[in-house]
Amino acid sequence: MRFWKVNPVILCRNHLLGMHNEFHKFKPHFEKKRSIAGYIKNNCVEPRAMSIMHDIVAMEMEIRDYKHNSPYILPDLSYLPLEHLYYRIDKDKSLDLLLNRCPECYKRYLQFLCITNQLFITNQEVKL
Ligand SMILES: [Zn+2]
Ligand SMILES: [Zn+2]
Repeated sequence: MRFWKVNPVILCRNHLLGMHNEFHKFKPHFEKKRSIAGYIKNNCVEPRAMSIMHDIVAMEMEIRDYKHNSPYILPDLSYLPLEHLYYRIDKDKSLDLLLNRCPECYKRYLQFLCITNQLFITNQEVKL
């Protein structure tokens, strides 16, 4: 399980719906107070952002007319060690990995860059 910390606009159907499912499937880890050390080590999860990330993904699903009727309420995270509780996903790494893995997300990312004119208005190196 991996939560992509990217703008969900760029996620292909599979990754969007897959990630949405994973929010709900991952929840028992918190409810049963399991260690998430492995997920943190692999840059897969950002505990405190789970609920807002879920809601942004759900919003994108609604924009695309996919059904969503599973609200997400963040479980109690107080059992987590602080370095896990406050872990933040490295967004650049998350994006790079996704774009390397999925040609469809890569295509959507390029379209997103074009639509938002990000390829041409700055001299900043585009992350590819
Ligand atoms: Zn949901
Ligand atoms: Zn994808």
